[in-house]
Amino acid sequence: MSLPLLLCCDLDRTLLPNGPQPDDPAALPRFRRVAARPEVSLAYVTGRSRALVERAMARWSLPPPDVVVADVGTTIYDVGPRGLWRAWEDWRAEIARDWRGRTPAEIAAALAGLAALTPQAEDRQGPFKLCYTAPPDADAAALTAAARARLDALGVSAEVVWSIDETGPIGLMDVLPARATKQGAVEFLMRKRGVPPQRVLFAGDSGNDLAALTGPFPAVLVANAAETVRAEARRLAHAAGKSDILYMARGDFLGMNGNYAAGILEGLAHFFPESAAWMDP
Ligand SMILES: [Mg+2]
Repeated sequence: MSLPLLLCCDLDRTLLPNGPQPDDPAALPRFRRVAARPEVSLAYVTGRSRALVERAMARWSLPPPDVVVADVGTTIYDVGPRGLWRAWEDWRAEIARDWRGRTPAEIAAALAGLAALTPQAEDRQGPFKLCYTAPPDADAAALTAAARARLDALGVSAEVVWSIDETGPIGLMDVLPARATKQGAVEFLMRKRGVPPQRVLFAGDSGNDLAALTGPFPAVLVANAAETVRAEARRLAHAAGKSDILYMARGDFLGMNGNYAAGILEGLAHFFPESAAWMDP
């Protein structure tokens, strides 16, 4: 067995082939073989809640993960081999400090005056996550700046994450404790598991993956990502001196198209060449 490897995958339109671009039928079977390797720890890192992760796992027969980072980084669960989910209380305590005693209702009230924002359904909201939609052509920079100003005035330490759901298309804005990003959760997971950054791969496709895609560990942007995300990821990686640890999937690896799981596998083989031998029986 080679060294442990922590494989962290966004779900929607990264591992899950639920975007407009074509899926590659060879990709998910190969991904399942990789996930079954004893040296691989698998983490799903997603905006979905636990219930919606379980729904996706059933719908696409995803391999059982070791860990799920749910609700855009605000909850981390250990998932045992028998499917027992246990939330990490130490992560909850860590991110709770950023709300500085304010309740989600107080934070929502502070943002209520921003007309472009519509709160999402109640089941999308959490104690550490406020979710909004906005018109896809909204001025994202102005809107996030206005939200940040109101949050600063309230005294909370928050992260405002904007992304476009291409299937809508619709704008999405999440307000999270500053520490509770996908990147923060992956770094916490690394520390808890004692995995060095060079043995991590993060895979993503959209705006709420950008910080993790340009974090201190290898990352892959799947080929179905929007051109705007691709350009922004390239720019951020260059600015942070991380261009060598961000890989852009382009297809043609094992004859696959580089979309979704095919892109994850392409990135995995790029950074960890020994993994290519795990993908076929
Ligand atoms: Mg995604």
